[in-house]
Amino acid sequence: HNTTTNELRSAFLEYFGENGHRIVPSASLVPQNDPTLLFTNAGMVPFKNVFTGQETRPYSRATTAQKVVRAGGKHNDLDNVGYTARHLTFFEMLGNFSFGDYFKAEAIEFAWTLLTKGYGLPKEKLLATVYSEDEEAAELWRKIAGLPEEKIIRIPTSDNFWRMGDTGPCGPCSEIFFDHGPDVWGGPPGSPEEDGDRFVEIWNLVFMQYFENPPGTRTPLPRPSIDTGMGLERFAAVMQGKRDVYDTDVLRSLVEATADALSTDPDGPLRASHRVVADHLRSSAFLIADGVLPAKDGRGYVLRRIMRRAMRHLQRLGASEPVFYRLLPALIRQMGSAYPELVQHQSLIAETMRGEEERFTALLERGMSLLEDETARVPEGGALPGAVAFKLYDTFGFPLDLTQDALREQGRTVDVDGFEGAMAEQRARARAAWVGSGDSAAETIWFDARERLGASEFLGYVSEKTDAEI
Ligand code: ATP
Ligand code: MG
Ligand code: MG
Ligand code: MG
Repeated sequence: HNTTTNELRSAFLEYFGENGHRIVPSASLVPQNDPTLLFTNAGMVPFKNVFTGQETRPYSRATTAQKVVRAGGKHNDLDNVGYTARHLTFFEMLGNFSFGDYFKAEAIEFAWTLLTKGYGLPKEKLLATVYSEDEEAAELWRKIAGLPEEKIIRIPTSDNFWRMGDTGPCGPCSEIFFDHGPDVWGGPPGSPEEDGDRFVEIWNLVFMQYFENPPGTRTPLPRPSIDTGMGLERFAAVMQGKRDVYDTDVLRSLVEATADALSTDPDGPLRASHRVVADHLRSSAFLIADGVLPAKDGRGYVLRRIMRRAMRHLQRLGASEPVFYRLLPALIRQMGSAYPELVQHQSLIAETMRGEEERFTALLERGMSLLEDETARVPEGGALPGAVAFKLYDTFGFPLDLTQDALREQGRTVDVDGFEGAMAEQRARARAAWVGSGDSAAETIWFDARERLGASEFLGYVSEKTDAEI
């Protein structure tokens, strides 16, 4: 069986390579062409300007295995990690792209042939969604794949209509789902039980057939394009007979590395913590390899939040000294050959992890004991006062989402408005306490800078909501 994650990745690229696609190496997690985007969060990101026509390439078909991070910004899966069987913050997106070359029929044909003939997935286990207005796609799924009517599901929501932004290319999409069978709880897409684990989305095909500009006005593109994305880990789970991405070869070995390092049971009551650590190890290591370092704002603050969250889960698993960096060799064993940047930057990654752990460990311990005391006073289902969350943030370096994550396990939340209020109050106090000579240019500059820095620390939190903060 050629079903290791590494083999599945190679087979995908080979298949599209043989079908006239240029095999393009993964671009950086830091978008090179879009300053408004936090991280590369889909396979198409490096090709944005090719799709809009601003940039041309010497090929009209491409295929990639693209590193992506979905933590912060438009696609933020950070809070899903450890809680669903299908979400990671770092994953690899396999994709094939047509830049005004082939369109809908070929895209569906390629995907169907690869899944059923190439990888040998049973046809009966697959189904497809289409956008409710895209009768053409429904017809193609009938004709090409022979899918019966009940396995072509029409979805009227924006889930099945993709747009690059308020203006630009857009079009309907079609998502391919795998059915794990009636023994697993869950319902088909569009049903009330769609969040269950029975039906899992593996591949998303985007049919870019319109150009929107101004917002709300669409014109058909003369040469429509294709963008697809298949999550390698989800696909590996299906191919390896697992329901859960954390049970695939690569992620399972990282879960076990954590369990070995701390002598814990990876399938015991702290199972979720093992998973969070495995996921966050990958996102941290890959971000550092691409030049992101933990910082007070922007991308670096998202990285810091991810790393500190991992550290809290490691502490929960019993760690009393730095251990995150010691998991790196396990990751390199699994992914170092496909991603040599991990090997090349191994010492930078390890030192960055270790440094952050050393800085945070003492604060974490003291902060957690404060948090535990305070949580004991919050009734089940209640909210931690914003002032406490702010103190944890300000004095102990707890990103808000770390506190929220810790409370979620206890069935409690955080008063976010109160947290924001406490933050604003502290700023106001600092400004009022300033006794200067009045309106000199130097003071204005000083204040502006201070305001910016303060504001930017806050951006790490705000970035949950917007892509455009950098
Ligand atoms: P979902 O609805 O399950 O959150 P999505 O529709 O947001 O997925 P897309 O944006 O269509 O995902 O991304 C393309 C593919 O990438 C998906 O079909 C899936 O296989 C994979 N994928 C998306 N998000 C994740 C994630 N957080 N972890 C692992 N794989 C993912
Ligand atoms: Mg999603
Ligand atoms: Mg989806
Ligand atoms: Mg999708």
